[in-house]
Amino acid sequence: MAKKSLGQNFLSDAGVAERIVREFAPRADETVVEIGPGGGALTRRLVERAGRVVAVEFDRELIPVLRERFGARENFTLLHDDALKVDYCAAVSPAASARVIANLPYNIATAILQRLLEQRACLPEMVLMLQREVVERITAPAGSSERGYLSVLVEAFCEAEAIFDVSPEAFRPPPKVWSTVVRLRSRAPEPDDVRDDPLFLRLVGAGFAQRRKTIHNNLRGAPAFVTALVEESGGAPKVLADAGLEPSRRAESLTLAEWLRLASTLKRGG
Ligand code: SAM
Repeated sequence: MAKKSLGQNFLSDAGVAERIVREFAPRADETVVEIGPGGGALTRRLVERAGRVVAVEFDRELIPVLRERFGARENFTLLHDDALKVDYCAAVSPAASARVIANLPYNIATAILQRLLEQRACLPEMVLMLQREVVERITAPAGSSERGYLSVLVEAFCEAEAIFDVSPEAFRPPPKVWSTVVRLRSRAPEPDDVRDDPLFLRLVGAGFAQRRKTIHNNLRGAPAFVTALVEESGGAPKVLADAGLEPSRRAESLTLAEWLRLASTLKRGG
């Protein structure tokens, strides 16, 4: 019985499972991470093709099922753990890095994605199935009403490419929404790039805090950490002028380059 609370919509269409794994193209010389293997629709293809598969499953009842199906394979490691808490760099050791594949539980998909991005140093590429609407947000360009914190976060660290859509009928039970498979490839920031600074993400978060407000008003009402820096840098109007941004702009209209400029204006202290 699928558990709604764990976002369990199992892939029942073998053609779709095969297509996802083919797009991922596991190699015999690599370690891969699968999040939420469920009944093993993707896993059984991965263990055949990848050097090693590290699978992270939270549902206690699925652990014996997965052990029974794949436990005999030497290249299969099962972690009974919460994907939000796993230290991926440690989990894939002795490999220094691993690519990730997952049909994510939709209820916590964006939280898992953020966790994976935090550990991108050892997770250079991910092929993920997400709700189509989430992929639309991730890939939304500046100026789109879909653009939000997640779009800027992903753009800052990855190249994102939507690969194909999947209809609800491919799952048991069928979800209410369409899904999209997306590929995210880490792009290495420059060594002294502000995007790797905690300030950068807090600034973007503050900018999107109230979508209907201008960036100027959101900066003025930002959490203490950000407002202190804004004040030290001469106040919101000066910071925006120094970054070459009209105070009437809204966060959704800013390009990544503009966010980076704003962050470096603050870092320099105006
Ligand atoms: N990969 C399987 C498939 O494609 O049929 C199952 C995908 S299902 C959408 C999501 C899977 O993630 C389920 O097996 C669920 O138990 C698991 N899951 C849910 N929350 C999790 C968490 N916090 N950590 C790890 N796995 C989780």
